[in-house]
Amino acid sequence: MTRSGQEYLASLRDGREIWLDGERVADVTRHPAFRNTAASLAGLYDLAHDSEHSAVLTRGGVHRAYAVPRSYEDLVARREAYKVWAEASFGFLGRTPDYMAGGAAGFAALPGVFTTGAHDGAANALAYHRRLAEGDLYPTFTIANPQIDRTRSAAEQEEDDLVVRVVAEKDDGIVVRGAKMIGTAAVFGNEVIVGTIEPLAPQDAEHAVCFSLPVGTPGLKLLSRTSYEAGARSVFDNPLSSRFDENDALLVCDDVFVPWENVLAYRDVDVAFRMWWHTPAYVNFVHQAATRFWTKLEFLTGIAILVTKANNTHQLPQVTQVIGRLLGRVAQAKAFVLAAEASYEQVDGGRGGVMPGKDISFAQRIMAGELYPRTVEDIKLLAGGGVVQLPASGQDLLHPELGPLLRKYVRSPGTPAEDRVKLLKLAWDALGSEFAGRHEQYERFYHGAPHVYLMQQAWEGDSASCEALARSCLDGYGLGTGR
Ligand SMILES: Cc1cc2nc3c(=O)[nH]c(=O)nc-3n(C[C@H](O)[C@H](O)[C@H](O)COP(=O)(O)OP(=O)(O)OC[C@H]3O[C@@H](n4cnc5c(N)ncnc54)[C@H](O)[C@@H]3O)c2cc1C
Repeated sequence: MTRSGQEYLASLRDGREIWLDGERVADVTRHPAFRNTAASLAGLYDLAHDSEHSAVLTRGGVHRAYAVPRSYEDLVARREAYKVWAEASFGFLGRTPDYMAGGAAGFAALPGVFTTGAHDGAANALAYHRRLAEGDLYPTFTIANPQIDRTRSAAEQEEDDLVVRVVAEKDDGIVVRGAKMIGTAAVFGNEVIVGTIEPLAPQDAEHAVCFSLPVGTPGLKLLSRTSYEAGARSVFDNPLSSRFDENDALLVCDDVFVPWENVLAYRDVDVAFRMWWHTPAYVNFVHQAATRFWTKLEFLTGIAILVTKANNTHQLPQVTQVIGRLLGRVAQAKAFVLAAEASYEQVDGGRGGVMPGKDISFAQRIMAGELYPRTVEDIKLLAGGGVVQLPASGQDLLHPELGPLLRKYVRSPGTPAEDRVKLLKLAWDALGSEFAGRHEQYERFYHGAPHVYLMQQAWEGDSASCEALARSCLDGYGLGTGR
């Protein structure tokens, strides 16, 4: 059965080792750097019990993201569930539990990928999926190697255990040491997957391991980045960063013991890679992410409309054109979701499942990574200086001397000072704050770096049809063809 928000919060009090600003965090549900976001995530769990949303979010008492889709209709139903959670954070919580839940369902759709001579991870992959779905757990993942030196493979780095590797093998499991990036929402998760989504070199066998562990496992450390939630003055002043700071952490395994039943891939560079790309796991990631991206563009476009209305520039033709472009991008983002569903594919060799179309899913990453920074820039240009010329705190509006001054000078026709300050603070949190900068980097990189996904599109995109069409044109005439 799905958990309540309170049950979810209680599950985070498990002795997990989280570090922030040189101090160990005793309880993420109470610490001022994390507690509001934890409460926002708990709110998602509560939505599953809400009569308005439970039928969309769950089926048979399990969140829909955990279901292995069997038809086009199942994909649509899953997207409708993704949309409810995406709207709850206006698209700013990227790694809600449904993200990796879709990945786990992808593993369960094609468990044969995990079977090799050396280690049979198929039963473990199915058990992983079942454990998460039945416990309604929050899975996260760290599947990129620390940057350190991108010209060398994992095994060629200056030290052996910079990238997570196996340091000991025991009867009941393995011991691992090293680091992974970037654990988005890992501090809020119940389990974290440690693996590698990019190809490893043949010499990287010791690093070719993938496993999932409870976040509270001894030796597993999460080193948090700056908390934007901690830096927020109030919900009024920083409405997004105060509540939707999903956190990013460096994951360090300090001689962590992993039981065999948690090991999905072991000393096998092929399985460590194929588990993401040959199962529907990655395409399922994109299905969730594309739905959230569409929602985020809807939200940002709404902000743009409200800001231009507040500035009374909304009717200017040049401004209307930019709003038209933004609305066009919303439709584009939506179209990618619908088209990926409509071009769904059977999971080849799987257990009767389907997945969104690969070609369009992969292309979505290119569109989103390129469109997001442009969208932010367009809205900043529409907003002008008002998003900066704001009182440091909304409390100034209540001050006996400052309040009257702000009400006189920080207003627009039909928009009194309090409404204007509220709107523009929300806009700046979304567009120009440190939190906003992190979101721009997120949208560019969370699905891998462009040099990787552009190459992949070049290899796997439908180049044959494009080339054939151009060739057919060339073949239709020659030097002897007249006017
Ligand atoms: C906010 C955020 C959240 C994230 N969350 C997660 C998460 O939860 N889990 C997770 O596993 N990962 C996460 N990621 C990590 C993400 O998977 C990586 O950022 C991504 O894989 C790209 O790797 P990288 O950042 O190391 O960039 P790099 O691979 O180092 O690339 C950076 C730049 O270096 C250049 N470059 C590097 N190598 C080459 C090359 N061979 N050829 C040409 N140019 C090159 C390119 O200009 C490239 O854009 C997150 C990233 C961000 C930014």
